[in-house]
Amino acid sequence: MRSHFPTEWLTALPYVGGRTLNVPDRAAVADPADRGTPVGAVALAGREVADAAAQAARAAFPAWRDLSATRRGDLLLAAADAVQAQAPLLAELLAREAGKVLHDARGDVLGSLAMLRSFVQLVRDLEQPENLAGRPGTGQADVVRVRHVPVGPAAVIGPWNTPVFLTFNGVAPSLASGCTVVVKPAAEAPLALTALLRLMAELLPAGVLNVVPGRGSVVGQALVEHPAIRAVMFTGGTETGRRIQAAAAGTVKKVALELGGNDPAIVLADARLDDRTITELVAGSFGMSGQICFNIKRIYVHRSRCDEFVERFTAAASRIVVGAPLDPDAHIGPMTTPDGYANAQRLIREAQDAGAVVRTVGVRAASARWDEGNYVAPTVVTDIARDAELVLEEQFAPIIPIIPFDTEDEVIAEANRTEFGLASSVWSSDLAHAEAVAARIEAGNTYLNAHRLGASVPLVPFGGIKQSGLGRTHGMHSLEHCTELHAIVGFSDASAQLPGIEQWSSITDHLSSDAAATEAPTGEPAQEPTEEEVTA
Ligand code: NAP
Repeated sequence: MRSHFPTEWLTALPYVGGRTLNVPDRAAVADPADRGTPVGAVALAGREVADAAAQAARAAFPAWRDLSATRRGDLLLAAADAVQAQAPLLAELLAREAGKVLHDARGDVLGSLAMLRSFVQLVRDLEQPENLAGRPGTGQADVVRVRHVPVGPAAVIGPWNTPVFLTFNGVAPSLASGCTVVVKPAAEAPLALTALLRLMAELLPAGVLNVVPGRGSVVGQALVEHPAIRAVMFTGGTETGRRIQAAAAGTVKKVALELGGNDPAIVLADARLDDRTITELVAGSFGMSGQICFNIKRIYVHRSRCDEFVERFTAAASRIVVGAPLDPDAHIGPMTTPDGYANAQRLIREAQDAGAVVRTVGVRAASARWDEGNYVAPTVVTDIARDAELVLEEQFAPIIPIIPFDTEDEVIAEANRTEFGLASSVWSSDLAHAEAVAARIEAGNTYLNAHRLGASVPLVPFGGIKQSGLGRTHGMHSLEHCTELHAIVGFSDASAQLPGIEQWSSITDHLSSDAAATEAPTGEPAQEPTEEEVTA
């Protein structure tokens, strides 16, 4: 391991209530580019550490919540600046542990800081309660204020593919809006994230930001079940998402799920197959070795254009350089996990065995020690059955099936056939045509003549439908997960007519008629209620 990383960055330990905890049980953090030499180690914390972190977050919550958005924002901006100073080294560590190329690792770290800064601004708009007094439907109440309040301690559980940015999808809106946070990093790539969060946490009040590395089935599960945790923000696989939703039900938590996808790209007969289009489709398929939730996972091309498309797409993919993560000339690195690598090899083998045409392309850089790392070359698969696993399931690997179609009804049915519904794209030289097809696709996001817009349009809601997720991230949509509405309604004059309750007034009518009787002039009987009022 290179000596220029601070030693404490190389073991992901829990940081709870302002202190680093020593956990002797550890697992190696493998190097995707060199299976023989670990990059570092991750503590395998137990449920008691998750409990301590949830308690610390609960204890710190009232004071953090009660700070003004401006004061909280100042503290968070200072913490972001401290991380920014270490960003190059953090990105390098992230590249080493996740196998992503340095360019992508930098984007992961710097994009997270940009996101934090933007939420600091956004929450300032939420600080002023919405004033509804005098609006129809609010009766004569003269105080009708709706406040956005932080939900409480939040657990953020992240995946290994884009570990920092995707964790910040939960961390940034939560901290900015006044929630305290416990993060559970993915065990496969926890080092840079844990180091970064600790740098931030040291500049915040104790307990505001806590980190609990360990197995998801142990500490992740414990956090999701913990009564002190009021919201869970999870990014990861669909199967884990189902488990989390079930576990959270016991304590009725808010749950946001960003899950797997099987994004179709639909290339219509009138698509413009120029260099830009092909480049975007190639980058959208093979970026980060296919390990992005909204990567293109299957391409449907109108039969009249399919041969031309396959030829141009394969030629462009052939220019992708696969190399070691720190090689500045590499476009993609090795796959992050040995399991992902083994799964990719299996999918390629099964496609070949089933008679599909499998083209392995790309340039193998000298920096890649091919037999010692999880390297998979970009792979283009044609003549594959529409119901093959590679087509219907999420491959999360640089292997892309291309399938011809004849009619738009047919391709829309294929696109909507799976239980996934994350992103998708439609390609056509006629924008209205593309949009009409897009409107029929079951997905949280559909892009027109582009695909990689998932992370780069921060005010556009992002997320999945069906079994690709619950809720949306980006901008104000993220704040819905970590805030609640608190309505404060009242009267400066207690004798005012309560709004909207005329039809539920039997007790008040009764009591006010008693009062009227008591106060009535001598000899005057109080008025009896009508039959209608008695039965109401
Ligand atoms: P994963 O296996 O579901 O793990 C994600 C996180 O959940 C890890 O930190 C994991 O811990 C933890 N976990 C596992 N079991 C848990 C449990 N019972 N309770 C609480 N936490 C638990 O996903 P992954 O393999 O890391 O990520 C790849 C998947 O994420 C792909 O399907 C991809 O499409 C999806 N993804 C979706 C989005 C999106 O925005 N929609 C973005 C990125 C990725 P450990 O692994 O450390 O044990």
